[in-house]
Amino acid sequence: MIGIVAVSHSARLGEAALELAMQMVQGGGARVLVAAGAGVDADGAPILGTDAVAVATAIDELAADCDGVLVLMDLGSAVLSAELALELRVSDVPVRLAPAPFVEGLLAAVVAAAAGGELDAVAAEAGAALGAKAGQLDVPEAAPEAEQSTAPDTAPDVASDSAAAGTLVRRLVVRNPLGIHARPAALIAEASAGADVRLRRLPDGPDAPASSLSRVLILGARQGDELEVTATGPHAVAVLDRLSELFVDGFGEGTETVRTKSQKAAPSAKSQQTAPPLQHNAPVVEAGTVLRGRGVSPGRVAAPVVYLAPAVGEPDANTLVAEQDRDAEVSAIEWAAVAVADQLRVRAEQATGEAKDILDASRLMAADPELVAEAAALVRSKGRTAARALWETAAKHEQGLAALGGRMAERVADIRDVRDRIVAEILEVDMPGVPERDEPFVLVATDLAPADTASLSGGQCVALVTEQGGPTSHTAIIARSLGLPAVVGATGATGIPIGMTVLVDGSDGTVEAEPTESRIAEAVAAARIVEFDGAGTLADGHRVALLANVGGAPDAANAVAARAEGVGLFRTEFCFLDQTEAPSVQEQAAAYRGVVTAFPDRKVVVRTLDAGSDKPLPFANDDEEENPALGIRGLRIARRRPELLHDQLAALASAAAGQSAHVEVMAPMVATVDEAAEFAERARAAGIERVGIMIETPSAALLAAELFEVIDFVSLGTNDLAQYTLAADRMLSELGDLNDPWQPAVLRLIGVVGDAGRAAGKQVGVCGEAAGDPALAGVLVGLGATSLSMTSRSLGRVAEVLAGVTEADCQRAAEAAVAAPTAEKARMAARAILGAAAGAQ
Ligand code: PEP
Ligand code: MG
Repeated sequence: MIGIVAVSHSARLGEAALELAMQMVQGGGARVLVAAGAGVDADGAPILGTDAVAVATAIDELAADCDGVLVLMDLGSAVLSAELALELRVSDVPVRLAPAPFVEGLLAAVVAAAAGGELDAVAAEAGAALGAKAGQLDVPEAAPEAEQSTAPDTAPDVASDSAAAGTLVRRLVVRNPLGIHARPAALIAEASAGADVRLRRLPDGPDAPASSLSRVLILGARQGDELEVTATGPHAVAVLDRLSELFVDGFGEGTETVRTKSQKAAPSAKSQQTAPPLQHNAPVVEAGTVLRGRGVSPGRVAAPVVYLAPAVGEPDANTLVAEQDRDAEVSAIEWAAVAVADQLRVRAEQATGEAKDILDASRLMAADPELVAEAAALVRSKGRTAARALWETAAKHEQGLAALGGRMAERVADIRDVRDRIVAEILEVDMPGVPERDEPFVLVATDLAPADTASLSGGQCVALVTEQGGPTSHTAIIARSLGLPAVVGATGATGIPIGMTVLVDGSDGTVEAEPTESRIAEAVAAARIVEFDGAGTLADGHRVALLANVGGAPDAANAVAARAEGVGLFRTEFCFLDQTEAPSVQEQAAAYRGVVTAFPDRKVVVRTLDAGSDKPLPFANDDEEENPALGIRGLRIARRRPELLHDQLAALASAAAGQSAHVEVMAPMVATVDEAAEFAERARAAGIERVGIMIETPSAALLAAELFEVIDFVSLGTNDLAQYTLAADRMLSELGDLNDPWQPAVLRLIGVVGDAGRAAGKQVGVCGEAAGDPALAGVLVGLGATSLSMTSRSLGRVAEVLAGVTEADCQRAAEAAVAAPTAEKARMAARAILGAAAGAQ
């Protein structure tokens, strides 16, 4: 059966149309849901409007028992809401949006659906619904839209028209600096009187009737864009002439070229020297100063400093806009919404996969005429500022979504993101978070949240400097995986003026303010990339698998490119950092499949969610904990939320099914044999054959022999092992010297695990950051590591060092390091045996 969704601005209209339609089938035989109105106001009165979420919910509800869904819409934004609903829905039933008249189409569709018609047939019936009325009135039926647009691929230039079937076509170039914002859109509507005019942004942008201000704004036409304008009717030529004049004249706004916002924001050479720092209390850093911190991701790079943009604060509710200024405020909202939609369109065009879908959905939200119209109404009726009006309107939309719960509630974050973007655009400030720039920059911050660092990929950020954060903080880990040189714990860094060029050395942990040209050239030349040939081998032929640490499919693609031998640690929590609701089994399976399929016939070790402590997941860690590093973290979450582990194992088994990759699973934060045994039992029950645990607690290290009786392999998480052995918070740069895998106590615990692995004949991997340190790699092998897993970028350097030493060298170096009384002496003892090559880092 085909289900039907009727989308209307008015709940009463929707219900009345449905009542009329159901009369045709005596109330039975058809499944129709009405998605109408935009809720009720504070007095309980219905608000006219459409709601994409309600449409998506109706589609999903029908999907449960229908083979297809036809969506009929009344007008204007109902169409946009229906389009957005296609992105928001979770079901995958075929859906068709019908360009049919609402009432007639609904009647015809209901009758066809009740008669058992297929989706095509029901849609065709709805589409032909005006025929009867047109015949009765003896007027030719309007041709379908696609046929009205007669623009050939090679449409003529501005001045000439092409005509076909009574429709004239012209191409016009947007010449005014601000593009088609509210004022030009109004002029276009006015000039189009006397003809049926449509505009389309070329080459493949949306199209809009000239009479609809909001639709024309949503074209997002900017300076330099070309529009195809079609006009039908007796006055078509005159109308096109008027429009041409407007375009050529730049709508009276001039036609000079403007710089883009980012160009405007780029500091001049002078301002780079003198601009004050943005957001700090630290003393201003002078040119020539060298700040010291901890180098946590190698590489040297020089670029101007940019700061993390602060959150957009809630705009003041008490500022009132005078009557005569309200039009300008409304115009600011319209322009900002179009500008944001356009920015998101450009970013979506450059993105792929899930990121593209998300950006497209955000673009549609930014372009939602209801959002703009409601905010504009607040300006006009209550004198709110543009920013405040948009803020309040978004809050109302958020509440509607949050009330729906589930996946729909997750869209709240998207609305907030769009809200912040539009408000930032209105206020002409940077969007919160990592700024978008056209030129390379060094990002400086007090500290970064995992979500901030996750958004760095693909942008122009070339290095990170933070005042806080430790060597194994997730900021450091993500920087390494993105290959961005990073220095953490650089006290005073937030005193560097915006735009000042700094030379960041992620190996020795220095940040040099305003270095000389020769210093920059020298440092960049020294940053050498070492290729990995795809097989970790010691000088004597002993194999040590060199694997990659990944946080999702994009990392996996990088790891494949870097010729990693497999994945030694898939940090699954990185796939869901922002989610407020637990991901479904299907959603998880899709995320895991993205990594598993990248490594056919190779090992992929997947770690179950390590939520908590420095990377809490909103859906898993809902409590404030006094001491989160020692609290409900990693495997311990299953004590309270067994369903999370159950679903994850099911998703992983499903992602592994039918794939040639050797998928293994391991649990983080294990302390006892009982925990390991129970985890192994659950994982095997879910269908995963090889089960391991991470050794991150001293307890697990000391119990390694007993643990090997219940699990197949272990992987040493040296980041946490150091944290828990030395009782030093890994996030605290001040304690970086304690959080050091060279500490003899840590090395001795690793030795205990290595010995147990050799005795049991089982694999001992290392996946903490220590595995990617070329100086330590040989020592780890000597202590019994059978594989090393690291960020892809470290593979070449680690392989290079290992290729120069034998297993016997490694064992001697390990013995010497373990016997040393201090970290420094351990380092020196190992270097003396493994040679200067191993100590080069
Ligand atoms: C570790 O602790 O060494 C580890 C690899 O896990 P994470 O850094 O994700 O806590
Ligand atoms: Mg860990």
